[in-house]
Amino acid sequence: MAISHVLGYPRIGEKRALKFALESYWKGDLAPAALQAVGQALRADHWKKQQASGLDFVTVGDFSFYDHVLDHAVLFGAIPKRFGLPAISSEQDYFSLARGNASQPAMEMTKWFDTNYHYIVPELDKETAFSINAHDFLTQLDEAQKQGSAVKPVLLGPVSFLYLSKAKGFNRLDLLDALAGQYASLLQELHYRKIEWLQIDEPIFALDLDDEWLNAFDRAYAWFRTVRPKLLLTTYFANVSRYQANITRLPVDGVHIDLVRAPEQLAPWVNALPGHWVLSAGIVDGRNIWRNDLDKSLALLEPWVKVLGERLWIAPSCSLLHVPVTLLHEEKLDSEIKSWLAFADEKLQELVILTKALNLGVDAVADELAVSRAAIAARNNSDRVHAESVKKRVAALAAQNEERPAVFTKRRAVQQSTLKLPLLPTTTIGSFPQTVEIRASRAAFKQGAIGTAEYETQMQKQIEYAIREQEKLGLDVLVHGEAERNDMVEYFGEQLAGYAFSQNGWVQSYGSRCVKPPVIFGDVYRPQPMTVDTARYAQSLTKNYVKGMLTGPVTMLQWSFVRDDQPRETTALQLALAIRDEVDDLQKAGIAIIQIDEPAFREGLPLQKAAWAHYLKWAVRAFKLSAAVAENSTQIHTHMCYSEFNDILPAIAAMDADVITIETSRSHMELLDGFGEFAYPNEIGPGVYDIHSPRVPSADEMEALVRRAVEVIPVERLWINPDCGLKTRGWDETRQALQHMVDVAKKLRDELQVTA
Ligand code: GLN
Ligand code: ZN
Repeated sequence: MAISHVLGYPRIGEKRALKFALESYWKGDLAPAALQAVGQALRADHWKKQQASGLDFVTVGDFSFYDHVLDHAVLFGAIPKRFGLPAISSEQDYFSLARGNASQPAMEMTKWFDTNYHYIVPELDKETAFSINAHDFLTQLDEAQKQGSAVKPVLLGPVSFLYLSKAKGFNRLDLLDALAGQYASLLQELHYRKIEWLQIDEPIFALDLDDEWLNAFDRAYAWFRTVRPKLLLTTYFANVSRYQANITRLPVDGVHIDLVRAPEQLAPWVNALPGHWVLSAGIVDGRNIWRNDLDKSLALLEPWVKVLGERLWIAPSCSLLHVPVTLLHEEKLDSEIKSWLAFADEKLQELVILTKALNLGVDAVADELAVSRAAIAARNNSDRVHAESVKKRVAALAAQNEERPAVFTKRRAVQQSTLKLPLLPTTTIGSFPQTVEIRASRAAFKQGAIGTAEYETQMQKQIEYAIREQEKLGLDVLVHGEAERNDMVEYFGEQLAGYAFSQNGWVQSYGSRCVKPPVIFGDVYRPQPMTVDTARYAQSLTKNYVKGMLTGPVTMLQWSFVRDDQPRETTALQLALAIRDEVDDLQKAGIAIIQIDEPAFREGLPLQKAAWAHYLKWAVRAFKLSAAVAENSTQIHTHMCYSEFNDILPAIAAMDADVITIETSRSHMELLDGFGEFAYPNEIGPGVYDIHSPRVPSADEMEALVRRAVEVIPVERLWINPDCGLKTRGWDETRQALQHMVDVAKKLRDELQVTA
C-alpha cells in the first residue's frame, strides 16, 4: 500500500498568528513563554491537520520561529563567534542572530533557491566546532509523539547545510566530517526514541554540483552507517536524474523526487531504485496554488504502483512552506476561481485522495475525483481564462515589435536634444516615504470610509508634496512618489484582466515578513490605462520631467502565482503587451521618460545553468516588447536591485533600456566593475546610497562612490541616484540624504564638465 506525507507545512498559521506573535514579542508586548506557547499551539494544529487528513506521518522539525537554516546552525552549535554567545540559551539570543543587536549586525539572509523565501546564511570559520544543542528539536519530537501519530522528523542534510553556509578564507568542506559526526550522533538519539524514518533534505542536488561537492555526499553519509532511523533523502526543484549514480550509492533508504518540475524523471528513478528503497513521488505542486489534476497524476503514477507496492510514497513536490495555508477564510475570492485552487490544507486532501485511488482503485474516491475533474474541466474551458484576442495578439508578434525605431546611439542624440538634461543627472527610483498619513488614506478607502473622489484628492496632495520637495532639493528628473501604490505588483495586477487576489494567501518571505502574491489565472490584458491620469497630473505640476513608473513583465510574473496551463514565457509576453499599451499611452500623454522596473529579473534565472539561455531569451524579449513602442525621443529607464549582474550582463545590455539604475552602494561600486569590463553601452545610474537603513550618508561618502563610478563608466553616460525606492524611509532622512546627493552631483558636474 502506498502511503502519504508532506516534506513540510507552512509555519505562519491560517491568519499569520506567528507573525503577530513575533512582532509583539519584539516590541516587548509578549513574554517569551507566551511566544513559545503560540509556537506550540501552531505546531499542534499543523500536526492535527496532517493526522485528520489521513497522512501516514506527521512531519516534525519544519517549524521555526524565524528560519530553519538558522535553527540548524543553532542545533549544531555553529553560532558566529562575533556574537560572543557560547550557546543559544534564550529567545533573545536566538533573535539577535536573525535580527542583529546593539553591537552586531544580523546574520546575512539570502534567497532559498529560486523561491521568494529567504534563509539565514550560517557563518563558518576554521575554528567552528560543532556541538549538538538538540533540546528544542527533541522537545518538538516529544510533543508530536504525545499527540499520538507516526512521527517523521526532518533535518536539512549536512552537505546542503555546508553548501548554503558561507566561510571566509577556507574550504567549508574541511568541516564536513566534524559536522557529519554530529549528525550521526543525533541520528543515534532518534533511533533510541523509536523514530522509524528521518527525512533528510539535500536540496542542493537541484544545482550544478562539481565533483568536490558530489564526493562530499559519500564522505558525509559514510558516517550514517551506524544505528539510526531509516533515511529518506529528499531532492526538489529540479530533475536530479543526472546524479542518480551518486545518490543511489548513498547509505539511505529512499529518495524523494520532484515530479511537478520534472515528471520525466519518474521512470528512470523507478528503474534505478535500489531494491529496499522507497520512492517518494512529489506529485502535488508545493510551489503553486492550483488544484491538482488528479487524473493526470494517477496516470503518471499508476504504471508503477505494482512495481513499487508499499515502497511508493505520495507527497507534494517540496515543502508546503511556499504556498498559503488554507482556502477556508477566502470569502471574497470569486467562487469559480476559488474552485480551481488548492492551498496547503487542500493539498493535504489531494494527497490522501491520490493515495486512496492508487491503493483501493478509483472507485473508492469516485466522488472526490468527479469534483476535481469538473473543476479542472471548468478551468480549462472557462472564457474567463481564455481571451482569444490576447492569444491572437501574442501569436501575431513579429521581430520588429521588439525593436525601438532606432539604435541607442541615435536615440541618445534625439533625447539629448529634446530633454536637455545636465551632466550627471540626478533622479530617484520611484517611491517616496509611505507615511502614516498615506497608509491611513488607503485603509480608509479600502474600508469604504472615504469614496474614490476623496481618496484621489488625498493622493494628489501627496503627489504634489513629493514634487515640491524634489523641486526644492534640486533633483533633475522627478517622480510622482508612488503614494497610491501599496505594492508594485498588486497595484498593476488589480487593474489587469487575468489577475485575482486572495485575502489570506500569505506566504512567508523571511522571519515575520509575509507576502501575498496575486494569482494570474487567465490571459492578461489591460482593459484601460492604469497610470496615465496620475502621471499627467504629476507632470502638470512642474517644469521638470516626471518619470512614468511601471512594473516590468518579468517582475509581474515572478512575484505572482502564475498559471500552470501555459509556459511562463507566454504569460510574460501577455504581461509585456499590457505594459506596452501603457507605455504608449504615457508617451501620448506627454510623458517623456518612462521607467519599467525589473527588480526580479535576476531571480527568475533557473537553478541549472543549462536552462539560463532559454530564460534570458524570453525574459529579455518580454522586456523589449514592453519598451519598444517608445519613440526615439521617449527615454526608457529600467531599475534592478539586490542583484548579482556579472553573469548576465550581455542579457541586461540586450534589454536595451536607455538608462538602467542599479544597486551598487552596499558593495562600494564593486558591481560596477563588471559593467565597466563588459563595456555596458547605454546610460547607467549606480546607486550612491543604501536605502535600507535610516542612516544619512555624508556627501563625502557619496562623492567617493561617484568618483569610483567615473573611473569605470564614461561620465557622460552616468546618472546619480539612490540604490532603490524610498518607500520604507522617513521624510527627514530622505531629504537630508537626497540633498547630499544633489550637492555632490552639482559639485562634480562643474568639475567634470570640461572632460565630458
Ligand atoms: N519603483 C519602485 C520603488 O521605487 C522600485 C522598487 C524595487 O526596485 N523593488 O519603490
Ligand atoms: Zn529596487
